[in-house]
Amino acid sequence: MITVKNLQKSFGGNNVLKGIDITIQKGEKVVVVGPSGSGKSTFLRCLNLLEVPTGGEVWFEGQNITDPKTDINKLRQKMGMVFQQFNLFPHLSVMENITLAPVKLKLQTQAQADEQAQRLLARIGLSDKAHTYPNQLSGGQKQRIAIVRALAMNPDVMLFDEPTSALDPEMVGEVLEVMKELAHEGMTMVVVTHEMGFAREVATRVLFMDNGQILEEAPPERFFGAPKNDRLKEFLSKVL
Ligand code: ADP
Ligand code: MG
Repeated sequence: MITVKNLQKSFGGNNVLKGIDITIQKGEKVVVVGPSGSGKSTFLRCLNLLEVPTGGEVWFEGQNITDPKTDINKLRQKMGMVFQQFNLFPHLSVMENITLAPVKLKLQTQAQADEQAQRLLARIGLSDKAHTYPNQLSGGQKQRIAIVRALAMNPDVMLFDEPTSALDPEMVGEVLEVMKELAHEGMTMVVVTHEMGFAREVATRVLFMDNGQILEEAPPERFFGAPKNDRLKEFLSKVL
């Protein structure tokens, strides 16, 4: 589904991604961990061209998204993204947040989008919030809405950038629960997180990023149980 070849990204003289290579198959759940500033967000943002790579290639469903001839907007519709800070539109109701993109892009009529939004809200137990505004929601509710807003586009892959890092601890579980359900339904997911329990339970592969490179990648049992890289060992000794 996604192939990344020698991906590089610099900001001025700062080489943030120093040659990332990875292939992600349909249905995989790839969890990315690593210290702050190691380039995790930049990597994720390069996957859907929110950041334009300075070198290398990103292929998505057989198309080179870094080729200027590719219609990135079309491809981006197939890649849902969830951010640490929710990024809901504050002036729109929950329903409007969820239905805006599919209607605006003419993928659905307003009636179809409304019906789908009701279904998605029911699924996360927030039907009663359909007509409220983001500032009336808890952080956990906002993030669950942000997830279903992304799902309303029927994406083929979901990218999560530290989706629980801005939440009060008691709200982390409800968001991880929605993500786990999504994983069990077969969604392809790339998740940057510090939630090691989630990585152990859900990941098909865990990547360790440090200083703009992937230093280790392994299934969770091996990643946590028998790490090879010294910097990963040190990282795990701090976070576990
Ligand atoms: P992480 O998500 O692992 O914490 P980031 O990808 O956010 O790391 O950042 C990696 C490095 O890239 C940091 O040194 C950060 O300052 C730099 N960086 C990220 N985005 C930008 C930007 N838009 N402009 C300049 N520097 C950036
Ligand atoms: Mg980050």
